[in-house]
Amino acid sequence: SVPAAILSALASAARGGVLFKGGAALETLAEVDTFAFDKTGTLTTGKAEVTRIVARDDDAAFLALLAGLEAQSEHPVAEAIRRHTQARGVVPTTMRDVQSIPSEGIVGADTEGTLWAGNLRMAARMGAPADTPEFSRFAESAQTVVYLGRGSQVLGAVSVADRPRETSAAGLAALKAEGVTTIVMMTGDRRAVGLRMGAALGFAPADIHADLLPQDKVRLVGELTGRGRVAFVGDGVNDAAALARADVGIAMGAAGSEVALQAADIALLSDDMQRLAAARRLARRTRRIIR
Ligand code: ADP
Ligand code: MG
Repeated sequence: SVPAAILSALASAARGGVLFKGGAALETLAEVDTFAFDKTGTLTTGKAEVTRIVARDDDAAFLALLAGLEAQSEHPVAEAIRRHTQARGVVPTTMRDVQSIPSEGIVGADTEGTLWAGNLRMAARMGAPADTPEFSRFAESAQTVVYLGRGSQVLGAVSVADRPRETSAAGLAALKAEGVTTIVMMTGDRRAVGLRMGAALGFAPADIHADLLPQDKVRLVGELTGRGRVAFVGDGVNDAAALARADVGIAMGAAGSEVALQAADIALLSDDMQRLAAARRLARRTRRIIR
């Protein structure tokens, strides 16, 4: 049977918005010395805003196509685009055969053919030159860029800016103060965005891993587990495999994806990142009691 001290710790953590799926996760968390954080929707609010739009032709037509594709994605950048286009009264174009490509974007079709929206990797996959002077201001910015294209033609781009959660800096500092030795960022976003967000949160450039595919996060988590006990904290569909690979997977519960929650050992229902350090403290205290 589960020791009373563990049951009482699980209940106490739950009251603070940290849901453990079982006593084993509590015991492992006590030993974690390495934390890997996803960026978008984890260290950041995931409530991004569209900051710039450049369309080759007509803005309204461009936004209707972009909104049509992003209507079917649950990614934070898609939500930003939906909020922006809704506020402007844009009617999304109806799309069929819509398919998400994790860490790249989304593909679908209107009556005229295939359309895609996503990052430079997606553009490259479609043979579309997005790294052109027309879009250089996007590339030079430290914001997430979403290109929209039809086949090998880029129709335009928008940039999306996110900000750190109010509690991210304090949460990371609390983990360090607790004795956590290694804290890294792992993001599918591009390096310029990761570096800017990381600098604001006190990450050393060497601890920021960007341009990652879901399987890259898994590989990096695997490398870290060779040196200690690793927790991965993430929210997205693209984080599910890394959450499963880590010694302890921690999913952002309030706005995170269903898949991430299922793959995780712990759900963080509160969006207060300081609760992570509090949970680890509780786990260590409990371990001392039961041994
Ligand atoms: P993170 O690891 O920071 O949570 P993701 O791996 O989910 O980020 O996404 C990486 C990048 O892929 C995004 O920054 C964005 O450029 C692109 N992307 C992912 N999903 C979409 C989408 N639905 N529409 C447009 N771009 C997307
Ligand atoms: Mg994310």
